[in-house]
Amino acid sequence: MSIRVRFAPSPTGYLHLGAARAALFNYLYARSVGGKFLLRIEDTDLERSTEESTRSILEGLEWLGLDYDEEIIFQSDNAEKHRQIALKLLEEGKAYRDFTPKEDRANTNIKQNIADKARQQQGEKNMRDNPFRNLSKAESDAKADAGEPFAIRLKVAETGKTSFEDAVYGFQERDYSEIEDLVLLRSDGHPLYNLAVVCDDLEMQITDVIRGQDHLTNTHKQILIYEALGKTPPRFAHLPLILAPNKGKLSKRKHGAVVSMTTYRDKGFVAPAFRNFLALLGWSAGEEREIYSLEELVEKFSLEGVHRNNAVFNFHEADERHWTDDKALWMNAEYIRTMPLESLIPLGKNELKSAKLWRDEYEDDDKVWFEKTIDLIRQRFFTLKDFSAQGRAFFSEDFDFDEKAIEKNLKKFPDLQTWLPELANRLETVEDFTHDNLEAVIKKFAEEKGTKIGVIMNGARTLLTGLAVGPSMLAVFETLGKEKTIRRLKSQVAWNL
Ligand code: GLU
Repeated sequence: MSIRVRFAPSPTGYLHLGAARAALFNYLYARSVGGKFLLRIEDTDLERSTEESTRSILEGLEWLGLDYDEEIIFQSDNAEKHRQIALKLLEEGKAYRDFTPKEDRANTNIKQNIADKARQQQGEKNMRDNPFRNLSKAESDAKADAGEPFAIRLKVAETGKTSFEDAVYGFQERDYSEIEDLVLLRSDGHPLYNLAVVCDDLEMQITDVIRGQDHLTNTHKQILIYEALGKTPPRFAHLPLILAPNKGKLSKRKHGAVVSMTTYRDKGFVAPAFRNFLALLGWSAGEEREIYSLEELVEKFSLEGVHRNNAVFNFHEADERHWTDDKALWMNAEYIRTMPLESLIPLGKNELKSAKLWRDEYEDDDKVWFEKTIDLIRQRFFTLKDFSAQGRAFFSEDFDFDEKAIEKNLKKFPDLQTWLPELANRLETVEDFTHDNLEAVIKKFAEEKGTKIGVIMNGARTLLTGLAVGPSMLAVFETLGKEKTIRRLKSQVAWNL
């Protein structure tokens, strides 16, 4: 049977890190074995699901380049089928009606899990103590016929164990005594999560369920549903958690921006870089290597390479430049620095456009200049935003001066205030504004002034770009060209700040 996997997000917010990673691993697995990668939107929580969220999830997948096969399945479209299956289990005596008044019932999945835990902790609570569990069929039918509302619960056997072989965590086992008779259908007829997932996975002929480790408890419950239905469960692979730097839970609520895919797109991440980073959150190919193209990831990916240890997302809330995981940022810089220039050009263009720095000549008369400039300045950039921020002086006369750079490179050497305009006059005489010619003139100038060439270059850098660091200064002179170089060297603006 060919492999079929699915990504099954609940559309209750944007696409977050953990979900994006689950999507990626499903995608890589499907592509690596020639299987199908399907998408199912689990929109059964009607109060919390929004179309906007579905849109943002789809956008996130598109940004990451994770294209799915077949049509999207919306879980809510299948609610009637889920109900029928619950009723069938009731008919077969594998489920029962629970007439407990609504307010007394743990009627959502979350509440169910909390209740399970509390009961386990107490250690003595009998999971089979529901007073309606052993009602005779006649009694149960009579109450239902009289219009008493009821939920439908799975009748979990008194003794026994569920077990499965997890592709990542190995053999997993849970005693029935730890699992309550889970609700399949709410009294308002609403099918609950575990039932819906099992029915849909069966209908979609899913062979492998790859999802976060936080679903382990659900998996045991779902296996019970498969068994009640007389069906073979799919294989399961649970993925390690992604933790915050303090090893606590990474949460949408607390860490909204750092876990949202939209943030990465909007803050200038290159999609292939972020995808590469995500792939390494809990997986490795067992080699000392970190940069992989999508094709290489597909080729190398296997579930055996998924780690059992939780991954940590290392970010520094207080440090603006390192607002996200260090490695994610490093990897983005690496992609910006090394990706084919023709792939970077359109990204640079987008960025300049959104910063209102774009000019059509960059694609026309100044095309060669533009591409050379992007290639020059990309070397030290971390995000695409840097093209319009740190790179601003290359595209606009209206750029800021970094205070520290002014202190360190200009004001510490007061002579530069007259020397740099003097150098500008000297540069007027350079006909051919190229690297070698400029170097000779500046070297001679520094010698005459009895100062290090570095002092001249650093001062010039700050006047020309507003910054303390950047590409080789000779390349900066050449790129900005004679007119701008001279004008900025003579400018007193920075000196007066
Ligand atoms: N809708 C579930 C979630 O977003 C996914 C469940 C699954 O993959 O089975 O956590």
